[in-house]
Amino acid sequence: MRLYKTTAIVLQSVPYREADVLLTLYAPARGKIRALAKGVRRPKSRLRGGVQPLTQSSFVLYAGRTLDTVTQCQPEATFPRIHAELERWAYANYLAELLLACIGGSEESPALFALLLAALHLLEDEEPALVARFFAARLLVLLGYGPELSRCAACGRAVTGDVLTVGAEGLLCQECATAQTGGGRLSRRSLAALEYLMRARPATLGRVRLGEAVLEELETVLDFWLGRHLERPLKSVAFLHGLKR
Ligand SMILES: [Zn+2]
Repeated sequence: MRLYKTTAIVLQSVPYREADVLLTLYAPARGKIRALAKGVRRPKSRLRGGVQPLTQSSFVLYAGRTLDTVTQCQPEATFPRIHAELERWAYANYLAELLLACIGGSEESPALFALLLAALHLLEDEEPALVARFFAARLLVLLGYGPELSRCAACGRAVTGDVLTVGAEGLLCQECATAQTGGGRLSRRSLAALEYLMRARPATLGRVRLGEAVLEELETVLDFWLGRHLERPLKSVAFLHGLKR
């Protein structure tokens, strides 16, 4: 049987031929899936609702050699505010692009799927910048890129002072900081917030309030740490910065 059923989040949808789209899906037990959805750009297509970007749908797919084909799909979560509000939409695209840029092929990862799904649900109600910082912090941990925060990442000594220097592998002590290029500065307050976000469960995020200064510091260091694992800058980041201006 080459048909299989899975839930998946639509990460990307690119027009293909006359009326088809090429989808990039993310599924818990299969990771990234590339699939062709035929005829969905025709108004009467039954598949149309389920293949919209940033929608969770239940799919029936036919496994091809290089490309799978969508035979059925039903939307499960449509995220109306993400699709109605430009800022939330831009942040959701950032999460999708960041995930795609960080994963290789089609490794299964129920934990990454659960993180993305939880973050999309949070984006419906919570402050988008906070959700993005939570997603990035958890992503670092789940990918095994978690930075050293308890002591100097270069020499292992204790880090002291109110403002801490950020290096490639984590925090740096004052001796090591001068010899290395830093990735910005982190106040003790932002460090506490980061440590919380790296362990936080999605359900608790609604109770978290971080000031704008903390969110901005976290953005700089998280982008720095994640950026080391990306081949090129993300398009969605430039778009988000443009939106803020
Ligand atoms: Zn050191």
